[in-house]
Amino acid sequence: MNIIFLGCPGSGKGTQAKMLGTKHNFYHLSTGDLFREEISKKSDLGLKAKSYIDAGKLVPDAVVLDVIKNKIKDIKSDILFDGFPRTIEQAEGLEKIMEELLKVIDMVFFFEVNEKEVINRITARRNCPKCGRIYNMITSPPKNDESCDDCNVKLNQRDDDKEEVVKKRMQVYKDQTSPLISYYRMQGIFHIIDASKTVDNVYLQIVNILSKK
Ligand code: AMP
Repeated sequence: MNIIFLGCPGSGKGTQAKMLGTKHNFYHLSTGDLFREEISKKSDLGLKAKSYIDAGKLVPDAVVLDVIKNKIKDIKSDILFDGFPRTIEQAEGLEKIMEELLKVIDMVFFFEVNEKEVINRITARRNCPKCGRIYNMITSPPKNDESCDDCNVKLNQRDDDKEEVVKKRMQVYKDQTSPLISYYRMQGIFHIIDASKTVDNVYLQIVNILSKK
């Protein structure tokens, strides 16, 4: 079963994807994580993506689709797409790629959350540079200061989680990504998650829906 997590920046997709990936054996494919990895390696792809990411804009569809195509052809397990697709063009491109690989998208989970809440969530977000664990300094802070509970490494704030860039990302989401809500709703594979609830509650909502498939 292949699934998509759709929602605005900071709606909790990444946190849930990491939890589900480990417990339910999904291959967690986050385009954002993938670009950040390439940026840290200073690869050509990373350099290309960085200018868009730093400006809060989307990486061009052709670049994203190329990356996805290369990546998923070798994945044998179920895939959880996190933060992809982000435009109608990407969704259409994904459909073609999946068709070629004889795969389908079984479910789309839409993380519904209030925008104000999200801006507070994002600016309080930190991550461990070593293991990738995500913390929120208000709702799920680490036990000691600003260090990861597991690795004891100082936590990072993503450059694109600073307030100015977050506002731009929210606008980009409204303009380019939110049309995917009706796109997938019409396909009958669309499930709404109340993402304003606690991490554990959101997880249960997702697992409940998955178990009915
Ligand atoms: P994320 O970690 O999913 O919030 O992604 C961080 C940034 O990476 C986004 O603000 C975009 O600049 C870029 N990005 C991630 N996924 C995509 C995508 N599917 N299409 C275009 N840009 C993306």
